[in-house]
Amino acid sequence: MKVLFATAEAWPLAKTGGLGDVAFGLTRALAELGCDVRLLMPAYPGAAEQLEGAVRRRQVPWADGDVALIEGRLPGTDVGVWLLDDPPLFARVGGPYATAGGEAWPDNHRRFLRLSQVAAALAAGEVLDWRADVLHGNDWQTALAPVFLRGRGERPATVFGIHNLAYRGLFPAESYARLGLPAELWHPEGLEFFGQLAFIKGSLVFADALVTVSPTYAREIQTPAFGWGLEGLLYHRRDRLFGIVNGIDTDTWDPRSDRHLAARYSAPDDRARAANRRAVAQAVGLDAGDGPVLGFVGRLVEQKGVDLILDALPRLLAAGARLVCLGAGDHRLEVALRAAAQQHPGRVGVVIGYDEALAHQIEAGSDLFLMPSRFEPCGLNQLYSLRYGTPPVVYPTGGLADTVVDVDAHPQGGTGFHLAASDGAALAAAVERALAHWQDRAAWHAIQARGMAGAYSWEASAQAYRDLYREVVAERG
Ligand code: ADP
Repeated sequence: MKVLFATAEAWPLAKTGGLGDVAFGLTRALAELGCDVRLLMPAYPGAAEQLEGAVRRRQVPWADGDVALIEGRLPGTDVGVWLLDDPPLFARVGGPYATAGGEAWPDNHRRFLRLSQVAAALAAGEVLDWRADVLHGNDWQTALAPVFLRGRGERPATVFGIHNLAYRGLFPAESYARLGLPAELWHPEGLEFFGQLAFIKGSLVFADALVTVSPTYAREIQTPAFGWGLEGLLYHRRDRLFGIVNGIDTDTWDPRSDRHLAARYSAPDDRARAANRRAVAQAVGLDAGDGPVLGFVGRLVEQKGVDLILDALPRLLAAGARLVCLGAGDHRLEVALRAAAQQHPGRVGVVIGYDEALAHQIEAGSDLFLMPSRFEPCGLNQLYSLRYGTPPVVYPTGGLADTVVDVDAHPQGGTGFHLAASDGAALAAAVERALAHWQDRAAWHAIQARGMAGAYSWEASAQAYRDLYREVVAERG
């Protein structure tokens, strides 16, 4: 199975969010399954220096002048990498999509049209002596690729990954003609989206299969509440829309070997938990004690439901809990969290910023992990907390619904707690319910053990992707 994985970011070469982790974890796992996976990404400054293997530059002819591909291997993997080296477009100081100040690059439509065109040509075998069975594009930056392959008899099958539907790659209508896109596709059933060009439609309309990062999110995005105006199209394509839950990096997130922890453990262990709880309490200025600690780690944005935690706070504290929050994001939420910490010294600890070590410590040192997201395509933190024996309290949406089983609904299989509604009262009720179970240590250990025993590695996800590739290739005959 030959797969070209086209992406705008891949850890450790370039990363702004979850796509970067998926690009690394999934391609590595596919290669371990024996797939011939090649990853295509722009040559942002510094990316080529991180490649492994025999790195070489290959000049390839292109309609408007040569482009070059820098060839190498993704660090620590068998994944081949081609970096698209087009300096006027990609050799810029700043982020992959925006300036250091956060302004989107004004020519993003040109930059990612180029990436999509090269992806299509490489996959079709027009550039090098390698041809893909499957072109796997991701998010809007590579979404136009299937447009350049459509109507051909001989072509690779196309799969498109939706990691964040909120970003649709919208540009003014004027850019359409300037990009030289086919005039016959300028209509609502093509690339037009309410008078604008939407890159993402290139794949939502033309890819052979669409995959998002959990089965529940795949259903939710067919509805107005989650669909960003694309729900009708996604509903129309529902027979070709699949959900495959992401894996996690089980080496980095392993309570048996995690060097960030005060105490490591391989099974539910009250003494290790107490040592980790003490370390977190000390790090964020919480009172000492054996009472329960509730943890939160995440971007401080509306999506994550931080305001629900603040609404529920009086009841959480009345139940005897302490709260630790780590995150950065919206100023309003940062201010509100800081105010809560000031109002409840010793009971609420808040750290504003990005702190990898503290994130690990909170996963291991809390008794419950709070994740009341309003929507969550997949979510990683609830998977980390399951693996760390810290039952998550979640609103059952998207990947949270698919990965956390409610203890009261499923006494024999439960791993966490579901909110009955998306509000602070429901969060407080779920935490109170969880703390009642927490009092019963034997029952609690059983809940922890079930979560810790789950399979969260990339292997199972990669197998599901490989099965899907086989299916779409077979369909093309
Ligand atoms: P999203 O991709 O929507 O931000 P996920 O739960 O899928 O949410 O992934 C978030 C990732 O970022 C996790 O690895 C989490 O630990 C990490 N993270 C988020 N905020 C912080 C922070 N302030 N400090 C450390 N790690 C963080």
